[in-house]
Amino acid sequence: MIYLDNAATTKVFDCSITAADCMMRDEYFNTTATYPSGCSVKTKIEGCRRKIAAHLGVNSTELFFTSCATESNNWAFNGVRLRPAGNIVISAGEHASVYEAAVALKNKGVDVRIAPIKTDGTIDLNNTDNLIDQNTRLVSCIHVSNETGAVNPIAELSQIVRKNAPRALFHSDGVQAALKVTSNLRELGVDLYTISGHKIGAPKGVGILYIKNGINLPPLLYGGGQETNRRSGTHNTPYIAALAAACDCFSECYDCEKSKTIYDLMCTMFLESGFSIVGNAQAHSNFIICAMARGIKAEVLQNLAYERGVIIGKGSSCSGSMRGNRVLSAIGLNNADVESCFRISTFIDTTLSDAKIATELIIKAIDDLRRQNVG
Ligand code: PLP
Repeated sequence: MIYLDNAATTKVFDCSITAADCMMRDEYFNTTATYPSGCSVKTKIEGCRRKIAAHLGVNSTELFFTSCATESNNWAFNGVRLRPAGNIVISAGEHASVYEAAVALKNKGVDVRIAPIKTDGTIDLNNTDNLIDQNTRLVSCIHVSNETGAVNPIAELSQIVRKNAPRALFHSDGVQAALKVTSNLRELGVDLYTISGHKIGAPKGVGILYIKNGINLPPLLYGGGQETNRRSGTHNTPYIAALAAACDCFSECYDCEKSKTIYDLMCTMFLESGFSIVGNAQAHSNFIICAMARGIKAEVLQNLAYERGVIIGKGSSCSGSMRGNRVLSAIGLNNADVESCFRISTFIDTTLSDAKIATELIIKAIDDLRRQNVG
């Protein structure tokens, strides 16, 4: 099988499995225990935090381990102070874990404003400026779209936030961006930034919320006071160790030129075969392509591709149970076209030859389907 649904989740690196295994078999102590074995594990976790911080260009005191990116995003929204009457601005391109957190606040009466996105999949800054004002308390914009791979101009948006709403917090969901398009969070000008382990070779069930030094974000979870009282809950030591190992492995093995070559090759092959590339922003991730074969339902294509040995996605896995796709509709696609969009997402272990073979198989599958439909 050629696996091309890495935006949903990636295979876990061997080094991450080894790191987790070691924590589970030998170093299974609680980080809050005061005897030497517990202290030693606590020291290891702090080492992991420093390692990850170095990969992200931030201070280790600014990183807080969570159970997943969904928790990190919800924390950002739940921690925001909305009184006296404040508003929140999110982009129309957000993942469900941001969008639904905003909807929950809207249902409680909060003024939630949705910034439009353009046909290339990126936020429309001209029509966002006027939404952010003195009363804005939180602005949240996804860094790399999990649907299209479009990269949002986070640093530029940060300047608008600082100018229009000096008291607002600026959050970005960096799940599809961390290490892949950025290794320096400071350059982005964000206050809060979300990361998920399982998109970068670590297991599912570990995430991070970056909280810039000096930002006071109340906890989402109260309890034993772990994470300097800001995120209670016994540390998931195996997965934190696995995440630190994954960051090392990713950074060592990531060949940007190779990923770009694969991206360009696949796009060219799709375009030459009459497919459209959706949300084809100039600034894009090399790991995500949203393509459309008009008239062919992505679900049908996904099954056909699977039978032929290729696993592809159709829109976000997290919106898999819903009909339609909020983000693709927001960039202007009609319902029929939305249903024809499929997502190819690669990782650093994807080879050029696998990418070529898989693209040929997908194109052939659609040709066969169209011939059958005509015949
Ligand atoms: N944000 C984005 C952009 C995602 O792609 C995903 C997962 O698909 C999430 C958040 C949720 O991540 P997690 O599974 O760690 O909760």
